Amino acid sequence: MSDKFDVAIIGGGVVGCAISRELSRYQLSVAVLERAGDVARGTSGKNSGVVHTGINVPTGSRKAALNVAGARIFEDYCKDLDVPFDRVGKVIVALEEDQTADLESLMARGVANGVPDLEIIDSSTLKRMEPNISGAAALNVPTAAIACPYSLNIALAESSAEAGVEYMLNSPVTAISGDEGDFQITIPGGTVNAALIVNSAGLFSDKIARMVGITRWRIWPCRGEYVILDKRVGGLINSMVYPVPPKGGAGLGVHITPTTDGNILLGPSADYTNDADDVRTTAKIRRQLLKEASEFLPGLSPRDVITAYSGMRPKLVPSKVGGFGDFVIEEVSEQPGMMNLIGIESPGLTASPAIADEVSDWVREKIPAKKNSNFKGKWTAVDRVRDEPPEKIDALISEDPAYGEIICRCEMVTRKEIVDSINNGLEATSLNAIKYRSRATMGRCQGGFCGPRIIDLLIENGHSPESLTLTGGDSWLFLGSVEDLRKGKIPAVVEATN
Ligand SMILES: Cc1cc2nc3c(=O)[nH]c(=O)nc-3n(C[C@H](O)[C@H](O)[C@H](O)COP(=O)(O)OP(=O)(O)OC[C@H]3O[C@@H](n4cnc5c(N)ncnc54)[C@H](O)[C@@H]3O)c2cc1C
Repeated sequence: MSDKFDVAIIGGGVVGCAISRELSRYQLSVAVLERAGDVARGTSGKNSGVVHTGINVPTGSRKAALNVAGARIFEDYCKDLDVPFDRVGKVIVALEEDQTADLESLMARGVANGVPDLEIIDSSTLKRMEPNISGAAALNVPTAAIACPYSLNIALAESSAEAGVEYMLNSPVTAISGDEGDFQITIPGGTVNAALIVNSAGLFSDKIARMVGITRWRIWPCRGEYVILDKRVGGLINSMVYPVPPKGGAGLGVHITPTTDGNILLGPSADYTNDADDVRTTAKIRRQLLKEASEFLPGLSPRDVITAYSGMRPKLVPSKVGGFGDFVIEEVSEQPGMMNLIGIESPGLTASPAIADEVSDWVREKIPAKKNSNFKGKWTAVDRVRDEPPEKIDALISEDPAYGEIICRCEMVTRKEIVDSINNGLEATSLNAIKYRSRATMGRCQGGFCGPRIIDLLIENGHSPESLTLTGGDSWLFLGSVEDLRKGKIPAVVEATN
């Protein structure tokens, strides 16, 4: 480990990792400190995966500028990083005639923000485009796209790690002292020294700011629950289907969104909470999501749901106040040398490449640096054998028989893909780290079949059973041997810690 880094980035979400990738173009020593056992475990792994165009954000705001700038380069960004991307387009559907005025004002704002090719379509055009959707009219947004959010986050991290960025997982920052040029950052078991700090800790960025005496921001967490529908019903829609955004609501309303893997997401809900880590999902919201989505897409059944998840919005305005809070991207006078990224809620995924450019400029103004010859423009993710044509799969199997052994039957993930995921460049070896790199356990059976096989492969690849976790930290999968249990070395009932 370097004695002192030029830059310490706090938070391995898509924003922190996009900044790390951007800085890895230069001869700078950079560390990313992430409290979880892997990257993409915060909001960046739990959102709609929509590459927003910029119709929903106020003209002239930083959100609008960074959203539009990010959206412009997003497709190439995903191509370079081998991240699934699909320009499926979006329709914002007015269920009743009296909502068409809302479509017109959305369109006017989109035009003002520079969003191309917007048009209002009538109900018969909507029916032609989306045979299963009914509505009085719709705003057609053909440039809207979807991308796989966690694959992007992982690709940004692994590509920058390969170029020399040091990733420190399971490293929650608990205190910061010193000043620009010589910060000391406390993590369990040690101190990281850095000349500059980037505070991209998402939901906890206000707390990181408070560690250096900046008290002007407060994050109000707002949970958004989703359900994921089985691929079996994935063909019900062609593009994203959004409602007219609820007035004064905390989000864009419950939308029906295809994923790049062929599932459909319903959500998100919007509920303020006091606990940023409270990403539970509930039967009540599941029912509500199905009910609201059924207004556009009749006939959805609870049996179509395979699982649920929640993402947490880092809101800068409390529920009582409501309304718009802009992105904060600022070095403030209380603590020079620290760049604060606060309130990076939606469209933060879309804006992340543009935010990274801005922060990289700030760093390089302070620490001029030459180009890094280890930086590679292109990154290749773990193979997605299921997407290959049969002749390519045959060729892969002759090259390595591990391509011919299916471990996850639902998602058709091979032994080779699991082993490559285990040997990732971040040394993230939890069950979830394998899941988000390979998709194993994400299908209909949710790991019932492949879970034990992945554990066998982790052990075959040098990881002891006692070291295995679900998500990193202390989310242990095994507490010891049956023999230890018999000898009373392990309590028969253990309180869940995670
Ligand atoms: C429900 C929902 C839907 C969304 N949909 C979209 C969408 O479709 N399109 C779009 O563009 N945007 C969307 N967004 C917004 C987008 O997901 C976020 O803007 C983006 O993920 C923010 O990334 P981040 O890196 O700032 O935060 P995060 O992903 O939360 O990363 C912050 C990281 O900091 C780490 N951390 C926190 N405290 C510490 C500490 N003390 N020490 C070390 N590490 C720490 C966390 O573990 C976390 O990994 C959505 C958000 C939500 C909640």
